[in-house]
Amino acid sequence: MATAAGTELRTELFVNNEWRPAASGERFEVTNPATEEIIAEVAAAGPRDIDDAVAAARACFEGDAWRSLSARKRGALLYRAADLLEQRADQMARLETLHNGKPLFESKIDVAMTVETLRYYAGWADKLGGQTLPVDGPFFAYTLREPTGVVAAIVPWNFPLNLASWKFAPALAVGCTVILKPASETPLTALAMADIMEQAGFPPGAFNVLTGGGSTVGAALVKHPGVDKIAFTGSTEVGKQIMRDAAATLKRVTLELGGKSPNVIFADADLKAAVRGAQNGIFYGKGEVCAAGSRLLVERSVHDQVVEELAARAQKLTPGDPFDKNTRLGAVVSKKQQQTVLSYIEAGKKEAKLVAGGNPAKVNGKGYFVEATVFDQAKPGMKIVDEEIFGPVLAVLTFDGVDDGIRLANQTMYGLAAGIWTKDIRKAHRVAQAIRAGTVWINTYNFYDSSAPFGGYKASGFGRDLGREALDGYTEVKTVWVGL
Ligand code: NAD
Repeated sequence: MATAAGTELRTELFVNNEWRPAASGERFEVTNPATEEIIAEVAAAGPRDIDDAVAAARACFEGDAWRSLSARKRGALLYRAADLLEQRADQMARLETLHNGKPLFESKIDVAMTVETLRYYAGWADKLGGQTLPVDGPFFAYTLREPTGVVAAIVPWNFPLNLASWKFAPALAVGCTVILKPASETPLTALAMADIMEQAGFPPGAFNVLTGGGSTVGAALVKHPGVDKIAFTGSTEVGKQIMRDAAATLKRVTLELGGKSPNVIFADADLKAAVRGAQNGIFYGKGEVCAAGSRLLVERSVHDQVVEELAARAQKLTPGDPFDKNTRLGAVVSKKQQQTVLSYIEAGKKEAKLVAGGNPAKVNGKGYFVEATVFDQAKPGMKIVDEEIFGPVLAVLTFDGVDDGIRLANQTMYGLAAGIWTKDIRKAHRVAQAIRAGTVWINTYNFYDSSAPFGGYKASGFGRDLGREALDGYTEVKTVWVGL
């Protein structure tokens, strides 16, 4: 089909390097959240398709074409996929914006990072080895790092392609095979990526894409005995369900879940930079960012100044057409998500003080937009402080001194990320150590790199994407003893 972004796109399932409709013939609609238009109808996988995809991925994992391919050649395939994606970066970015609603300039950053992630893990393919072990006795002992097997990568809608690559790139680099299940709101870039993987030369079954619902396709993959590992990014609730469902087959599971990350501004910070960082921390990606700095903790003596400047910036950040190069606040991903965000805003209006935004919006009379919203005088115990909203809504809390700041920062069930703003280097490191979160940014926020591991403490999950650490999630360690 041709999409409104002017790209050709396959909308069937991608299994064993073949495009095929769902066995049931069923399809589901994909909507552009900025225009409310239906932009595609995509195959809805069912039980037979899931069995077929698992069989293809397993046959590939056990078959010669993939098994006997050297690590260096696996790396070369990933390098080729990166080059092909780079050539189609503009098209891919447009597609990402079309189904997600994020500004085009953000989608371009997402695609560029995906290219980097593919290259980063391409480089790892022939560098991951085992160790020789200093065991006691007449033995030679060593370890092998072997691929875990068939990996089902289940990903959310906020960074559809980028987050998928955080999983399929390391998995393929070490020799696993992959079934990618994108979110049903945003399946289009995963399908476009399948085309690239086939062109890059991956053998049939190495990379498969199953589109469809979470409680159907996602849950079936989690329960399937032919799948060895679930690499999941999504909500904490679904993460818990996946742990329960994976128990029966003792699957390996890594979970990147939600967050309610504190962004802590101390009185001695560069306040201009801190306010910019606070704005970027919550409004980038329309706040649909797992690591969004959604709790802004401000030291009392600078509170008024920070809130005033931040509210002024939020008021200027008007929602706009995601394809307009000047737009910095796009549409939230769906009507359902817009309603969820608005219900939190209503709760916030009853509990805290609204200082910016607070309303739904339309652009050219259409779309699921929400104004950049800031609540002041927020406190733990309020819904907008305790729960992940996943939208452009900031709660500002006040603290007195370093220990109080740390206490408040850690007063959450989550532990994904945190920000610290101060010119005092000792304070910065002390607070970075005291905060229980997988990533801490000091005097910056929301930066990522393929080489920097990313993941959660506490209810934000376990296991790490990116960096060398991610490779652990796709390998088993085998110890070999040789009697001498
Ligand atoms: P979600 O949990 O509803 O869905 C995520 C994926 O899981 C989708 O593909 C969905 O179809 C699938 N799914 C749903 N129910 C399932 C089930 N029972 N079994 C298997 N799969 C199932 O999350 P979402 O609404 O798409 O995304 C938003 C959430 O993702 C937020 O909580 C956010 O914090 C989190 N997130 C976390 C990170 C991170 O790295 N920690 C990154 C991005 C998003």
